[in-house]
Amino acid sequence: MAKNTKYIFVTGGVLSSLGKGLASAAIGMLLESRGLKVTIQKLDPYINVDPGTMNPFQHGEVFVTDDGAETDLDLGHYERFTHAKLGKNSNFTTGKIYDQVITKERKGEYLGGTVQVIPHITDEIKQSIFLVSHDVDVVIVEIGGTIGDIESLPFLEAIRQFKTDAGASNVIYIHLTLVPYIKTACEVKTKPTQHSVKELRSIGIQPDILLCRTESYLDDDIKAKIALFCNVGKDDVFTAKDVDCIYEVPLVYNKEGLGDNILKKLNIWARAPKLDAWEEMVEKLKNPRLSVNIAIVGKYVDLTESYKSLNEALTHGGIANDARVNLQYIDSTTLTEDNAEELLSKSDGILVPGGFGSRGIEGKIIAAKYAREKKVPYFGICLGMHMAVIEIARNLLSFEDAHGQEFDPYTPYPVIYLMKEWYDEQTKKVEKRDEDSDKGGTMRLGAYPCKLVPDTFAMKAYKQEEISERHRHRFEFNNDYKDKLVEAGLIISGTSPDHELVEIIEFKDHPWYLGCQFHPEFKSKPGTPHPLFRDFIKASLKNAGK
Ligand code: GLN
Repeated sequence: MAKNTKYIFVTGGVLSSLGKGLASAAIGMLLESRGLKVTIQKLDPYINVDPGTMNPFQHGEVFVTDDGAETDLDLGHYERFTHAKLGKNSNFTTGKIYDQVITKERKGEYLGGTVQVIPHITDEIKQSIFLVSHDVDVVIVEIGGTIGDIESLPFLEAIRQFKTDAGASNVIYIHLTLVPYIKTACEVKTKPTQHSVKELRSIGIQPDILLCRTESYLDDDIKAKIALFCNVGKDDVFTAKDVDCIYEVPLVYNKEGLGDNILKKLNIWARAPKLDAWEEMVEKLKNPRLSVNIAIVGKYVDLTESYKSLNEALTHGGIANDARVNLQYIDSTTLTEDNAEELLSKSDGILVPGGFGSRGIEGKIIAAKYAREKKVPYFGICLGMHMAVIEIARNLLSFEDAHGQEFDPYTPYPVIYLMKEWYDEQTKKVEKRDEDSDKGGTMRLGAYPCKLVPDTFAMKAYKQEEISERHRHRFEFNNDYKDKLVEAGLIISGTSPDHELVEIIEFKDHPWYLGCQFHPEFKSKPGTPHPLFRDFIKASLKNAGK
């Protein structure tokens, strides 16, 4: 444990989806605004070792870190709100903790002992928290799930013990609850909060601060009542009021005095918060001058949680251009040559996001074709780049059955293929994979360098020769078809430094057409919008008036 490191544990009560992730990110941002160095960690009670193999319907987006960890989407919030450097140790699940304990047991590290939840699992959890405790002033740890869930118990027990280990003055517990307004009674109800805190106290955790999600500000009487029943001070009950945009959350907390209260409780001296730039950004976001319509052609269109970082990156691109970005989700399974005009003509720009599997593929290829032919700005991300390459091969090279091997392993023209062996910049070794490889661990994952070609949209956006972006995919551009595709008008604007892997493609004589093998959305922040999203929105805006 680093000396003087302070810890904030964030738990959630009453029901899920109250926004614990956002609350943790906002607290991190407020502490950073006072000059403190923070990191944020998520402990998830589910059994999967990581969310990599989970269906987006179940779990929403899988967020990828620089070091190639497939993590919970809340880590995306943490990175967008703070400068915390997140990685493999920033997200632990029950599965990962048990996996580590069982591996140790097999190696004989507990020889002679009975391996139990307490102390072995709880020790392993505490150890995972210590792993991220170096070089920071404050560690914020969000516990996934809701108080009362069976599976979160070992995590709660571990954080209960943590206070004794780290010293009482170095640890606080913040509990996020719901205070609903009941229309028929015309009043807000505190009982769910009382019960949730009672549950928390029954396992030995007394919350220090309560963050109450509400529709409007709580008056003093209600705060006093909650304080009395939950054994906290009246000043420790905060209203976490619903807001129009997520980036307002830290500003609302700050107004309520949450930052001051946390510092006092943890006995930290820090300067007053500097929030001017953030306030300006929120103001711009809420009152844009312009407006642009973007079509997202994907498979999980009913579940925007699966495109979380993407939606945020598009919003950031809007901030950079003083524009409101209206998103139109188009279900690619319904898109055909016949209805493409009807479904896509209202959009100023078309984006095909990342994805896996065959369902809805043909619709995405049609969207890429429509954008190329009608000269509508096109942004293809990972799978969206694959769609563009397949489309160009089919329609401009007359490779009729051209496909990606993910969708048709026997295609005569595998323009997107499974690379069997390559030198991996991330792992620094020769990696091998084939059709039977383990689904959990055969992807190109995490940050890879990419060299840009002058006079391309990519170079114009990044304004630098070498960039680093995050990947999460198995299939690659097939260099066997490179020359033919280039002859047809494809431009290769970014490759791996050894030129072996095609990382960015464009198309000639087009207002803005770009496909990238990586996921730029993971690195966009509201204050520093990603250059590709900025330029895609800019190009789409030119189309907006037409
Ligand atoms: N399914 C494709 C692959 O594995 C694309 C993945 C993605 O879009 N992230 O290569």
